[in-house]
Amino acid sequence: MKRDPANASGMAINPRATLNRIGQGRHFLQIPGPSNVPDRVLRAIDYPTIDHRGPEFQQLGFKVLEAIKPIFGTTNPVIIYAASGTGAWEAALVNTLSPGDHVLMVETGQFATLWKKLADKLGLKTELIPTDWRRGVDPAQLETRLKEDRQHSIKAVCVVHNETSTGVTSDIASVRHAMDAAGHPALLMVDTISSIGSVEFKHDEWGVDVTIGGSQKGLMLPPGISFNAVSDKAIAASKTATLPKAYWAWEEIITVNRTGFWPTTPATNILYGLAEALDMFYEEGLANVYARHKRHAEATRQAVRGWGLEILCQEPSQYSPVLTAVVMPKKPDGSHHNADEFRKFILEHFNMSLGMGLGKLQGWVFRIGHLGDFNDLTLIGVLGGVEMALNAAGIPHQKGGVQAAMDYLARQAQQA
Ligand code: PLP
Repeated sequence: MKRDPANASGMAINPRATLNRIGQGRHFLQIPGPSNVPDRVLRAIDYPTIDHRGPEFQQLGFKVLEAIKPIFGTTNPVIIYAASGTGAWEAALVNTLSPGDHVLMVETGQFATLWKKLADKLGLKTELIPTDWRRGVDPAQLETRLKEDRQHSIKAVCVVHNETSTGVTSDIASVRHAMDAAGHPALLMVDTISSIGSVEFKHDEWGVDVTIGGSQKGLMLPPGISFNAVSDKAIAASKTATLPKAYWAWEEIITVNRTGFWPTTPATNILYGLAEALDMFYEEGLANVYARHKRHAEATRQAVRGWGLEILCQEPSQYSPVLTAVVMPKKPDGSHHNADEFRKFILEHFNMSLGMGLGKLQGWVFRIGHLGDFNDLTLIGVLGGVEMALNAAGIPHQKGGVQAAMDYLARQAQQA
């Protein structure tokens, strides 16, 4: 029997067919990461893989290792791993801590919870300050807890900058301030996996010890690489920390990075993409990139309010510039209209993927990602898809959400 070489496994998998499910045009990937990869970055990645020990690679290595630093707000080394964000979470902990060390975390949502579970598996003693998943870190609460710890048994405070499950961004400068006010020497570790490249971050100025980042969101790259930005204090801690570490160990990577190379095989093609994405950041200007994210987030919230729907985040000062989590309206029996059926409807009819509600938010919350390679008209398309679907799926709402967003964006354009 003649086999189709494109289908040698016999499994009918063709992602491209799904992407074009509604005739022509692009799929709208509006989950809060992975985000859309710009054509420029895709073209940069589509270049033959080179010798990762050769001179051409060395130039690339020097470029990305230097040009990534302002995005994290640091002049210290930024370690780049061939791993998803979870790898960089683990790297932060195993490099700096020892078995049984006490780690204080804040349960801002699903990702904070997953980071805690990972820390538990590594043999750390974790303590989680609870929240209702509708607000971020409360610096006053953190300060009180740290003041109680007179023996300084807490070795690290770990917080998520942008909680991707809830659309809530915590104020890291205030976290630093709370730690200083408590006079507590714990390390500060911050997960910026869904904020880096979209929200201004100041690793050095805010006294963060380890900043954890990922490629697939604000940095406009495919999934596959992740980051640890490190302070001198974190590097010093890594010399005495005794959790087992091999692949993740900073020291060898930092040493070899000084020559433009990595000790193991780097993700060469994603690094081509990173070099291109960084060029795009500096061409637009970092301040403009961050302002653009805030503008799109505000326009999205105006649309959500226009529809008469509820934004999950309860603290306006903590609204995320990256995504907006929306609460489905209630039915007469008090239960919520189903968010996953709504997302399915949007995917099938308008070829757009929205983020699902994660953990305890599943089924009653959906998330609109407005990050990365994104502009006003894309946003209006996204919001148009949501409004059409609210209408077509018979979800109770008011008309005028998209209009409110357009009016806001038009005013912003006038003022620019
Ligand atoms: N932390 C945050 C805030 C995230 O949004 C994610 C993934 O979405 C992770 C951690 C886990 O990263 P990854 O899925 O790349 O391993």
